Amino acid sequence: MPIEIPVTRVQEPKARPRDAQLGFGQVFTDHMFLMDGAVDAGWSNPRIVPYGPLALEPATVALHYAQSVFEGLKAYRGQDDAVRLFRPDRNIARFNRSAARLCVPFIDPDLFLTALKRLVAVDRDWVPRTPGTSLYIRPVAFASDPDLHVQPSRTYRFFIILSPVAAYYSEGFRPLRIRVEDRYARSVRGGTGAAKTAGNYAGSLMAAEEAQQAGFAQVLWLDGLHQEYIEEVGSMNIAFVIGDELVTPPLTGTLLEGVTRDSVLQLARDQGMQVAERPVTIGEVLAAARNGTLREVFGTGTAAVISPVGELSYKGERVRVHDGEVGPLSQRLFDDLSDIQLGRRPDRHGWMVPIQD
Ligand SMILES: *Cc1c(COP(=O)(O)O)cnc(C)c1O
Repeated sequence: MPIEIPVTRVQEPKARPRDAQLGFGQVFTDHMFLMDGAVDAGWSNPRIVPYGPLALEPATVALHYAQSVFEGLKAYRGQDDAVRLFRPDRNIARFNRSAARLCVPFIDPDLFLTALKRLVAVDRDWVPRTPGTSLYIRPVAFASDPDLHVQPSRTYRFFIILSPVAAYYSEGFRPLRIRVEDRYARSVRGGTGAAKTAGNYAGSLMAAEEAQQAGFAQVLWLDGLHQEYIEEVGSMNIAFVIGDELVTPPLTGTLLEGVTRDSVLQLARDQGMQVAERPVTIGEVLAAARNGTLREVFGTGTAAVISPVGELSYKGERVRVHDGEVGPLSQRLFDDLSDIQLGRRPDRHGWMVPIQD
């Protein structure tokens, strides 16, 4: 049975910003997707309505106990003017894994994908055209019972909102300076590190603030127990080129399973590179920097695709990576993945999902 999603259109479409005025996540399109969830009845009343405020009681569970999960993915306008989603099946599956960890009810993947496609189709004129720009998509589910008991909510709300975003590197790649965090921890074994959930972000803000005050763009998290094994960067996974090997930490439950991470590893393997998902200690990285085998470091994530790292700082020791410049693999992976996302290169793995009108 086809999934019916009624659409209530805005009376007056908003003025759209020009591509050159775009930033990140402050401008939203004309419409949003909403539906209601209940533990016993599942999800119901899917609908597309004008973007606008949600009315919530102050006692809403998510505001108190952070029972909420989210996703982040993008729609791209190709050279051929077609609009495509990048690997939405991965985000949907991850959303449901996050939801399971936070006791949020499962969302049928077909319904989820249909909602994404219909909403982007309704607001397709908002998908910007300048290369590098895109439409950022933010699905969220949160606990909506007005009830101060600490227990899983019985009712939920789900929404999807859309935001046209700038090219991340409108002024070219600028390798990041990153501080290796040696005091705070983001996640521990058995915790919620592998879930995309609000609380993980709340708990990481202070470390990021302090790093920024010290002149660093982001922090690199180490494992919570030994503060020795590398995990990830705030909202990106991390990879190293050590000798001839592309190395990234394994998915052991404390870090987020990035869609970009997976895509980049696949492209590197396609190119015949040696790829290892294995534990990496900060000691190994510093030793590789000292003996000249640390060739590149880069973050991977939906927002920037690839973020080259030009400097790492750990307990006052600073190491330059690739002389603070963009390394060749970082550049190539960025170009390759961007080309696939914009339809400029064959989509060999079937990653792009077109939006029909
Ligand atoms: C979303 C996210 C990432 C990157 O995942 P992508 O699917 O590549 O965007 C990495 N780490 C954290 C903590 C995240 O929330």
